[in-house]
Amino acid sequence: MTFATLGLIEPLLRALETLGYQTPTPVQAQAIPAVLAGRDLMAAAQTGTGKTAGFALPLLQLLTMEGPKVAANSARALILCPTRELAEQVHASVAEYAQHLPLTTYAVYGGVSINPQMMKLRKGVDILVATPGRLIDLFRQNALKLNQLQTLVLDEADRMLDLGFSEELANIYRMLPKQRQTLLFSATFSDDIRLLAGQMLNDPLSIEVSPRNVAANTVKQWVVPVDKKRKPELFVHLMRKGRWKQVLVFAKTRNGVDALVDKLQGLGINADGIHGDKPQATRQRALDRFKTSDVQILVATDVAARGLDIEDLPLVVNFDLPIVAEDYIHRIGRTGRAGNTGEAISLVCADEVNMLSAIEMLTRQTLTRKMEPEFEPEHRVPDTDASGQVVKKPKKPKKPKASGGGGKRNLGKWVDSGDVAPAEPSIKPVRKVPVFNTGPRKKK
Ligand code: AMP
Repeated sequence: MTFATLGLIEPLLRALETLGYQTPTPVQAQAIPAVLAGRDLMAAAQTGTGKTAGFALPLLQLLTMEGPKVAANSARALILCPTRELAEQVHASVAEYAQHLPLTTYAVYGGVSINPQMMKLRKGVDILVATPGRLIDLFRQNALKLNQLQTLVLDEADRMLDLGFSEELANIYRMLPKQRQTLLFSATFSDDIRLLAGQMLNDPLSIEVSPRNVAANTVKQWVVPVDKKRKPELFVHLMRKGRWKQVLVFAKTRNGVDALVDKLQGLGINADGIHGDKPQATRQRALDRFKTSDVQILVATDVAARGLDIEDLPLVVNFDLPIVAEDYIHRIGRTGRAGNTGEAISLVCADEVNMLSAIEMLTRQTLTRKMEPEFEPEHRVPDTDASGQVVKKPKKPKKPKASGGGGKRNLGKWVDSGDVAPAEPSIKPVRKVPVFNTGPRKKK
């Protein structure tokens, strides 16, 4: 199959040739004809599958072939993204695909001045990429009207809900014309996402390019058990041993990012960090320098790392496991992209056993453990497997009691400390489910 056989027009084919895309990826092969045919789409596609081109190419084609010229302060298509980084990334891709088309594109997001964005929107743009909060601000200040909107794309919809954007999405929903095409992309499909899809989409075609919630199989993954306090030392040891050249490292908190970067820089290692407390320009600079290999180790929080697209990233290290198991899939999706192979190494301490268990359950695999000589933990990481069971070694009873104790205990998923926890259901991150006005909606 080629892009030409999918029915794409010549200016798009020319752009793809320049970019070196030869064959459509599975998500593109399914999404492109469906979007061209005007269908709504609900696509389970993780990052690295080529999903951006999957929605952007047919969208650009439809906007070129159909519809009126864009009016002042209007947009004909809107792509909603959870973070600024992803918005920038998606916009860069869209602009590349559109290089031979007479269409205008622009990205708006918070954390930067709104005035230049308002100025830019005066003439209207064909495709607007936006984060939810800034979009609403622009709408409320009359800098943007949505009555000309033909297509809405929700990119990384699961992430938007995880970041607490459900209310913003409900507000945006009320701002949209009822007649439109809607495309929803999400790495994972929770019940909340299905609910959102049920409200936003009209008779959608469902496509799924990898088994639900399963991490990319081009990524070799393993775990190194270690005591919490020795993680920095182990990281440096592994880095030197493996001669790591370019590594994206995930830490759980902003402080964690700063502490690790300080430690590495103190050892003369070329490291930088990105997290939500840093200004957008600083984050972008760190990312650019990482991409050009001026920075060797980039340490990031989950939020800051959304939308990073670094070609051929060989290695991702989870310095801490993520609090939300789905983030593990997003993190390791930074490597092994577009058919390349990659590695993902997680440094796991005893405190994180329940997070490890939840990741194994979600990805339906037991991660291989490799003990690093000299770093064997004093606090053993209990055994885990894909069933969600955490197997604790029975403690020696001080005094033999009739009932004995220990053995297999189900500790639940996110109970982070303490020896015994009730066998409770997983504690999910708090999410508000959006409430929409769901009147029947007619398509064009
Ligand atoms: P995405 O999943 O949209 O973030 O895309 C992941 C990476 O794959 C990006 O660097 C794209 O430029 C690249 N890519 C997307 N589609 C193709 C294709 N058909 N052939 C080669 N590379 C692609």
